[in-house]
Amino acid sequence: MTEEQKSALRERILDRQVEVSMRIADLEEATKPIAPDKGLGRLTRLEAMQDKSVNEAALARLREEQTQLHNALANLLRPDFGTCLGCGGEIAFERLEVLPGSTLCAECAG
Ligand SMILES: [Zn+2]
Repeated sequence: MTEEQKSALRERILDRQVEVSMRIADLEEATKPIAPDKGLGRLTRLEAMQDKSVNEAALARLREEQTQLHNALANLLRPDFGTCLGCGGEIAFERLEVLPGSTLCAECAG
């Protein structure tokens, strides 16, 4: 991987981190406990609870992605960045662009 590709990737990770943080903040707001006396009808309250669990799942995924992005930024500084942990081959740049946190090549992850 060239230095140019690395810095492009770095930019991408930083952008994505901002996006992920904003979505996490939104979802944290959306997953706040539902007040029992909110004056919602019974069905609406059920819907609100379903939404909440969907949002909680999304939140968990985003937090995981945030950790991966964080690790990817640190890994980017390592000389062996972009090396597959499975087979030791090179991870395709295109794959890292989409999933900067990946530590496996498409074949090993597949
Ligand atoms: Zn591999």
